[in-house]
This record gives sequence, structure tokens and C-alpha cells, in this order.
Amino acid sequence: MEIIGDPQKLRKRLDELRVERGSGFQPPRAATVGLVPTMGYLHEGHLALVRAARQDNELVVLSIFVNPVQFGPQEDYEEYPRDLKRDTNLAQEAGVDLIFAPKAAQMYPEGYRTFVEVEGLSDKLCGASRPGHFRGVATVVTKLFHIVGPDRAYFGQKDGQQVLVIKRLVQDLNMRVEIVVLPTVREKDGLAVSSRNVYLGAEERQAARVIPDTLHWAEAQVRAGERDADRLREAIRERIAAEPLARIDYVSVNDGHELEEVDRIGDRVMVAVAVWIGKTRLIDNIVLEGLSRCGES
Ligand code: AMP
Repeated sequence: MEIIGDPQKLRKRLDELRVERGSGFQPPRAATVGLVPTMGYLHEGHLALVRAARQDNELVVLSIFVNPVQFGPQEDYEEYPRDLKRDTNLAQEAGVDLIFAPKAAQMYPEGYRTFVEVEGLSDKLCGASRPGHFRGVATVVTKLFHIVGPDRAYFGQKDGQQVLVIKRLVQDLNMRVEIVVLPTVREKDGLAVSSRNVYLGAEERQAARVIPDTLHWAEAQVRAGERDADRLREAIRERIAAEPLARIDYVSVNDGHELEEVDRIGDRVMVAVAVWIGKTRLIDNIVLEGLSRCGES
């Protein structure tokens, strides 16, 4: 496994590997490339993406980059956990071919001034609490796609809004990459695995269970026929508020496409929450589909 920080070097090396690992038969075919973009401090959620990429592609590139432009000035850019050595070992075990780990100055050199914005989708939910966040995400993902030129790129449903923003980005800018989305990997008690979980103290970690528990409860309500979105939002709020260490950022019951809040739950719904547990902001969501075929009587 190789680790490269310079975007030009990565591109050059990938050009070589595409030929080396491609089919030598006539006509020659370049090896396919799967990209897994991450901010590092790897966990089972990331590794599930790597494994899927390993299955689908001849080459797997893992990017590790804590992207400064997606963090607000008061956010945790400096404190965000980083451990390249540990990540390298995990990546190697999982069968990554190449780690792309640039420095901030290699991605955003002096004078950098081009940004990508997916309008509308970027302003809601996490975008409302974190202005500029999705502009930063869309920009770095566009850059990664241009540097790596992947056939497929792998993202987790854990960041449900990010998935919608990136799918729209790829569609609107006619990018050739296929976006593969994998389900949220959870701890035994249901909490979504996240690099930020290390911020939680023991008591907070216990309190954080209110998030998956409430989503699980909400799913049961919808499956049992609840279609009144306001009532569901209110009940979710009450359940989370009952946990003293939790403070709600948002509770959303939306259409799962445009992130529009719905009045009545239709065929597809995304229930998404952001909750502060102490100083740690955690997000989670569930998407339920095919609801018009069942439930409502
Ligand atoms: P991050 O390093 O947090 O930016 O995440 C990198 C990628 O891993 C994103 O596509 C995330 O959605 C995905 N990811 C993070 N946590 C999980 C999880 N618990 N399950 C599945 N994917 C995840």
C-alpha cells in the first residue's frame, strides 16, 4: 500500500496502476477505481465502505483529509481526531491500494478561490446549523473526483444529507462517477459509529443512546401507520428532551429527496436528527420507503 499527499503525484501513480492492474488482453482495459473519501480516524463505518469498494473495483483509493473548508470557525477542526499511523494499518488490512492524505495547503494552496455550491439542499438541516458546511463538502468531493477520477465512490447513509448533496452534484455537473451508498454501521446498542464518538464521556455515551432509540421508536410508529408528520416530530422531540444531557439541534421528518419537511408521510420518508450530547453534536437518520404499499389503512 502506498501513501501519497501530492495531488499531481497521486494522479500520475494512478495512471500507471490503471494500466498495470487493467486487463492486458486486447483491447486493453484500464483497471476500475473505487474511491472512499473520509476524514480519517477510521472505524467500522469507513471499513464497510472500503470492503465494498474492494469487492467492486480493481483499485481502491482511500482519501484521508480533514477538510478545513467544511468546518465553521467555532467548530472542531483543530480537535478533530487524527491518527494516520493507526489508519494506515487498518487500511492496509482492509485491502486499500493507495491512501491519498494531502495536507490542507496541498488541497487549498495560497490564492485558492473556487468553490462548488449545491443550492437549496445545502441550506437545510445540517446546512442551517453549519452554514457553508456543504459548500465545503461539495468543493472537496469535486476536487477528489477530479484528482482520483474514480469509477465509483462510496458514502455512508449515516450522513444522509451529504449523500443527497453529492448525488445532486454528480447529476448536475455531469460527472461520470457512480455513487454507492452503504447503510449506517452501528454499535451494539444502536449508536451510529462515528469518529466523534471519542469525544463522549461515559455518562454522555450512555445518554447518546437516546438518538438511535428514538429513531427506532419513530420507525415503529410509521410502520404501525403513523402518517401525521407534525405529531411524529413532536413526539420525537419529547423523547429526546427527556434525556437531560441531550439538546436538540433539529428534528426533521422530510421527503428524503429534496429534504422538504412534510405534513403527511407519503411513500418515502427520512427522519433525521442532530442532537448535542454535551459539547458533541451527533447526527443520525433513517429512511423508510415503500410506505404506501403497507401500513396506512
Ligand atoms: P467521515 O470520515 O466522518 O467524513 O466519513 C467518511 C465516510 O464514511 C462518509 O461517507 C460517511 O457517511 C461514512 N460513515 C461515517 N460513519 C458511518 C457509519 N456509522 N456507517 C456507515 N458509513 C459511515
